[in-house]
Amino acid sequence: MRLVLLGPPGAGKGTQARLFQDKLGLQQIASGDLLRAAVRDRTPTGIDAKRYMDRGALVPDEVVLKLITERLAQTDAQQGFVLDGFPRTRAQAEALNQMLGSGGAIDRVIALMVPDAEVIKRISGRRTCRNCGAMYHMVFDPPRNLNHCNECNGELYQRDDDAEDTVRMRLQVYAAETRPLLEYYESLGALSRIDGIGRPEEVESRILAAIGPINAGVKTCA
Ligand code: ADP
Ligand code: ADP
Ligand code: ZN
Repeated sequence: MRLVLLGPPGAGKGTQARLFQDKLGLQQIASGDLLRAAVRDRTPTGIDAKRYMDRGALVPDEVVLKLITERLAQTDAQQGFVLDGFPRTRAQAEALNQMLGSGGAIDRVIALMVPDAEVIKRISGRRTCRNCGAMYHMVFDPPRNLNHCNECNGELYQRDDDAEDTVRMRLQVYAAETRPLLEYYESLGALSRIDGIGRPEEVESRILAAIGPINAGVKTCA
């Protein structure tokens, strides 16, 4: 199964993608994670991308497309995946169609619907484990041990681009560049709009209901 998760920054895409990875064995492929790894490793791509990420702008399509193309070619992506944070522009969506070819389109595009006020609350409390990538929220889902991951005891950090001004910029960029993809995928008959309010498990059940038959297929094959 091949899923795409769309939604504004902080909507819960990463949280849902991790649930699907654990439960259905679908690889989470997050363009933001690939970019942050390139920044951390100071690769030429990372050095270039950081300028855009720091101000909440989109990294140019060709940079992101190169990372995603390489990632989708790896063996663990052949069993199915959840794309988290990609595509974010019409050009990326069209390139993705080309990449997958006629034989293996996307099975479903899930749009997580969460209002801006809630998204800002979610992002302002977000903390991520430096070691394993697990996500926490200081109010909604706090770690047991302040600033340390429940799973691996790794250090929790707050992303630089989760500062409030940058978040507002990212929301504007989402509205201008990414939200139009909902209509694009709707016209292809691939879109499910899912209410993103509620506990992560409730949101997950709504997504599972939307992808029902495909999901059953994956379970029997796995
Ligand atoms: P969030 O999950 O909060 O939406 P991401 O981790 O997906 O954030 O993205 C962080 C930043 O990385 C974005 O603000 C943008 O600068 C860059 N980025 C991630 N994915 C893409 C993409 N598909 N196209 C362009 N830029 C991207
Ligand atoms: P995205 O990948 O879309 O940017 P995340 O999955 O990183 O979003 O979630 C943003 C923040 O909101 C995290 O701190 C996460 O723990 C929290 N969060 C995720 N889903 C929910 C939910 N259903 N209810 C409340 N908080 C949530
Ligand atoms: Zn951890």
